[in-house]
Amino acid sequence: MATHREVGVGDFVLLDKIDLENFMKNLELRFKNGKIYTYIGEVCVSVNPYKTMNIYDQKHVDQYKGRELFENPPHIFAIADASHKVMQQQGKDTCIVISGESGAGKTEASKIIMKYIAAVTNKDGQKEIERVKNVLLQSNSILEAFGNAKTNRNDNSSRFGKYMDIHFDFKGDPIGGHINKYLLEKSRVIYQQAGERNFHSFYQLLTAASDEHLRKLHLSRNPDDYFFVKQGKAARVDTINDKNDFREVNSSLNTLQFSKDAQDTLWRVVAAILHLGNVEFVNDGEKLQIKNKKSIDVIAELLQVKKEELSSALCERVIAARGDIMRKEHTEAEACYGRDALAKAVYERLFGWLVDKINAAIAVDEKNYSKNYKSSLIGVLDIYGFEIFDNNSFEQFCINYCNEKLQQLFIELVLKQEQEEYNREGIEWQNIDFFNNQIICDLVEAPHKGILSIMDDASKMTAEKVTDELLLETMDKQLKTHHHYTSRQLKPADKNMKHKVDFRITHYAGDVTYCVVGFLDKNKDTLFQDFKRLMYNSRDENLKEMFPEGSQHISEITKRPPTAGTLFKNSMQALVQNLYSKEPHYVRCIKPNELKSPSAFDEERVKHQVSYLGLVENVRVRRAGFAYRQRYDRFLKRYKMISQFTWPNFRSGSDKDGVKVIMDERKFADDVKYGKTKIFIRSPRTLFALEAARNELI
Ligand code: ADP
Ligand code: MG
Repeated sequence: MATHREVGVGDFVLLDKIDLENFMKNLELRFKNGKIYTYIGEVCVSVNPYKTMNIYDQKHVDQYKGRELFENPPHIFAIADASHKVMQQQGKDTCIVISGESGAGKTEASKIIMKYIAAVTNKDGQKEIERVKNVLLQSNSILEAFGNAKTNRNDNSSRFGKYMDIHFDFKGDPIGGHINKYLLEKSRVIYQQAGERNFHSFYQLLTAASDEHLRKLHLSRNPDDYFFVKQGKAARVDTINDKNDFREVNSSLNTLQFSKDAQDTLWRVVAAILHLGNVEFVNDGEKLQIKNKKSIDVIAELLQVKKEELSSALCERVIAARGDIMRKEHTEAEACYGRDALAKAVYERLFGWLVDKINAAIAVDEKNYSKNYKSSLIGVLDIYGFEIFDNNSFEQFCINYCNEKLQQLFIELVLKQEQEEYNREGIEWQNIDFFNNQIICDLVEAPHKGILSIMDDASKMTAEKVTDELLLETMDKQLKTHHHYTSRQLKPADKNMKHKVDFRITHYAGDVTYCVVGFLDKNKDTLFQDFKRLMYNSRDENLKEMFPEGSQHISEITKRPPTAGTLFKNSMQALVQNLYSKEPHYVRCIKPNELKSPSAFDEERVKHQVSYLGLVENVRVRRAGFAYRQRYDRFLKRYKMISQFTWPNFRSGSDKDGVKVIMDERKFADDVKYGKTKIFIRSPRTLFALEAARNELI
């Protein structure tokens, strides 16, 4: 327990006065002293250090292994250990929810947790467990190569959400796992803002593949030759070593036993997408044509499809109208739309296929365990944080909705846990004001009335009839009285909304203005059936597997596939339900500045994050009158030395009696309440005094 004033308190509940100002002072003081972790009870607040810290080595692993949270300075290892301990000792499923905005350190945190778990398990050195550990750790480099990209906020930004279950046997050793992915930002495949890159995989291939490999893929080495990777003008980045990363990815692919064929498919698809980005169309007045026909030959070869079929799928589509099957030529705009949709879909399916393969490699091997055996697990959630950009689109809308759901889970679980503890201990509960964001979740997800539902209704109409503007009008009509919804059309004078097509949601984390343009397209997420059929007919079995719905004949297709919004909503609801059933641990990540600097502490930016993460309220709830609580046996063990009645051992009653003796002797009786198994202390000063008394003796 840190009592050193000069480095701040190690647990925010020990602040004299709980408000934003004091919270900020403590956080800054600790950050400036190189203390990046601070607790709120059992929640770990982490500030991105933007420099290598020497706090993750074996020495630190040993220091935290099997220890209690309060025995050591705050550290993410302690959270990982607590989660592992509960899982192992009580057979309960636990989860670690890592949240924070882009660049705050979530992915690094999740890797540190995984490495810690790997470091403290498999004492017996079993081969199979060692294999599982390797596979779990190495899956990261594959997922990052294909799912991460350089953005203006983070050079290694995860562009998908990830939830990973790690299964353990009764000894607490990892025996397998499973990964769920959420909403890959596939629009990045076709478009990048200035200063940003496409997914790492494209640059890794171009930079690091052998000359021979590139020749086979008909690729040059120069990213500037390919429209899909050159738009951001940031192909080379100081902090990224594409060559090393490519080597690591390939070695991980081998560790995970991706077959030669599978690896071949992987890079062929990446190459095909690069070529696809250079396809252009012309209309010679008579017919829509592909400008650079040679690229069609190359793409057909790489995707192992017939080139005539590829050309026609790019230039026209087959439609069923009143029982007749006809071909309809695309306009140039439709053709470009189709090309981009194909590129995005192929990459997205490839990513999904990769995750499936990884899952197959880390699946718990059933034959090692009897039928009745039930393993427990730790789930680690590393998912995109709240996003406010200059231009916010459908993706930000989904991501911010996800954060509303997680915030709600957090409120419910933290409050629930606290209330339950008070009940258990027989101590009276006092209500704490906490903004309940259910109303904002409803605004987005409520059946019939929510934005997603309004959007789905609009998406069902034929394209000619409904536009994004019309969607906005409908939203305005139906949501006009909602306190968390405003649109430019309702409040034309609003300066924060620049365009007529803007609407705003007042999220729990602040106002975000979204531009409705593109919402309908992204929600419908149409991929012409012609492309699905084309891919399904590929001679490459792996590719075929990625497009199972391509087997349907045009006349058989009656049902519209679910929209992107609905799929996302369903996946979020399932995620929250899943987390709700586990014992949660939290890591709340904070980004200290926009400069990636190890020393700058941007007060305004940090304050904003502290506010929207609800950290001050979290401290209040945790404290709810009591700064500190501890089990009697542990409390006595720590402080028995400060009283002659309890040192070296207390023999005249229970642990609780012993604790009472100490507190009476020190005249702290008025500041404490005695629960069934724990002592609750109101003022941090009492605890500091106890610590000081102890320090005098050791
Ligand atoms: P997020 O996943 O929240 O977007 P990352 O985990 O990718 O953010 O972190 C962004 C960058 O910050 C990392 O690439 C790394 O340079 C730095 N970073 C984050 N956490 C740490 C840490 N614990 N120690 C050192 N550097 C870190
Ligand atoms: Mg990340």
